[in-house]
Amino acid sequence: MSDAPLYLQPRLSAAMASLLRSGSFLQSLVDGLGSPLNVLLPDQIALNLGAFRSVLRGHQLSGRVFFAHKANRSSALVRRLTTTEAGLDAASLAELQHALGSGFTGDKVMVTGPKDPEFLWLAARAGAIVNADGIGELVEAAGFVRSHGLPRLRILLRLSEFETSGARTLSRTSRFGTSFKALGRLLDTLESFKEELEPIGVGYHLDTTGLDEKATALEGCLIAVEELRLRGFGPRAVDVGGGFGISYLAHADQWERYTSALTQAVLGKHTPMTWGGHGYGLRAEKGTLKGALGLYPAYRPVAGAGYLDELLACPAPGLGRPLGTLLLEGLCDLYAEPGRALVDQCGVTLGKVLEVRASGGGPAMVRLAMNSGDVGLEEHGILVDPVLLRRDGAPGVGRPVGVHLAGNLCLESDLITRRTVFLPDLPQPGDLLAFPNTAGYCMDFTATAAQQQPSARRVAVREEGGSWRWCLDEKYWPVLDTGGQRA
Ligand SMILES: *Cc1c(COP(=O)(O)O)cnc(C)c1O
Repeated sequence: MSDAPLYLQPRLSAAMASLLRSGSFLQSLVDGLGSPLNVLLPDQIALNLGAFRSVLRGHQLSGRVFFAHKANRSSALVRRLTTTEAGLDAASLAELQHALGSGFTGDKVMVTGPKDPEFLWLAARAGAIVNADGIGELVEAAGFVRSHGLPRLRILLRLSEFETSGARTLSRTSRFGTSFKALGRLLDTLESFKEELEPIGVGYHLDTTGLDEKATALEGCLIAVEELRLRGFGPRAVDVGGGFGISYLAHADQWERYTSALTQAVLGKHTPMTWGGHGYGLRAEKGTLKGALGLYPAYRPVAGAGYLDELLACPAPGLGRPLGTLLLEGLCDLYAEPGRALVDQCGVTLGKVLEVRASGGGPAMVRLAMNSGDVGLEEHGILVDPVLLRRDGAPGVGRPVGVHLAGNLCLESDLITRRTVFLPDLPQPGDLLAFPNTAGYCMDFTATAAQQQPSARRVAVREEGGSWRWCLDEKYWPVLDTGGQRA
């Protein structure tokens, strides 16, 4: 049994690390705008886009990277992208309106996900690409084009349930898309709407980190492209969706040590590591370990643009040659819709420490001016330590401590983390905890108005001549210098 601190230190970009060293700047933002506070670094999204584009270039592919807007609601991030070659993937009417109102032209937008008629109509009116879920959507879209006299609408067919040349279905079942086996019927429908709909390609989105499954799906798409050509259509793109992921942690060994200690703790062979014996999916039954660890792989040797690179280099499961080469030879553009990966290192959530309550020998309970909905790391199974920012550099106890982090709701379950978090020193009221890398789904996706607690304001920041400047997120427009940052 060891009580050595089990840190899960965050991976920080140079800009993020510099921001977190600017404690008094961040303190003054929270003093003025309240806790919680979401801080965004819009220039980083342009850098991330550049990394994806250079992977395309490396494989000699043309194509487009569409930011999956649902990962974050920030205006600054979306507006910053309008100055780049990125497209945007909108998954709701409001996201589409936000993109158009931020300066995206309709031709660079793709609409995905479930579509109500208003959403589909505005997409058709704006000339967006419709990533179509099935026959019903094609019929409805064609109806709008016909009745409103709109230009021919670009369609991308979302497919699912791909198979390799054998019979085994490798990709998981999904609520979305049309089964690969039903492609024929989709093409019949498209044939009856030749004036209204222009199928430009096929695609998938798989919510998995599994490379094999994605390789199977990508190969299936190449086969589907051939089917379209045989029917006389002119498809020219394959869309590999999103799901490239983020590596949240700086050190692989901390992740390994942590997860094996957690396993031991569930078995009662290590000091408890969580509040109330929570096992993150694991449990002990008569001394043996049951269940499965339901956590995001917080340390990932390959993620983001690097993952796309790996996918393109991967041999097609049936055809054998690298998928990137097959795309190139098939004269297909590559479309991708990264959400989380494109906002890597683009944001941090700040929470102010309100109370530190000692609990007889166990970890102290640290209560923050935020709740679990404001920082969705735990909700998404992402275990990563916050960074402690001391107010005025006040001295603490001067040694590492384990603490529990609780929220501001009158609810037993409102824990910011269900695990004991190790910090280099004991926090004190007035200090800040900075939760890094929350821009992907962990800022506003799960935020609620419960108990009428204040929801986080958003600010955009940038470093200029060694000091940090900020503006409210909604006041950010890329009208001033974005020189040197074009991607
Ligand atoms: C959510 C979603 C994405 C983005 O997924 P990430 O895991 O954030 O990259 C892309 N495409 C579709 C259709 C989605 O639903």
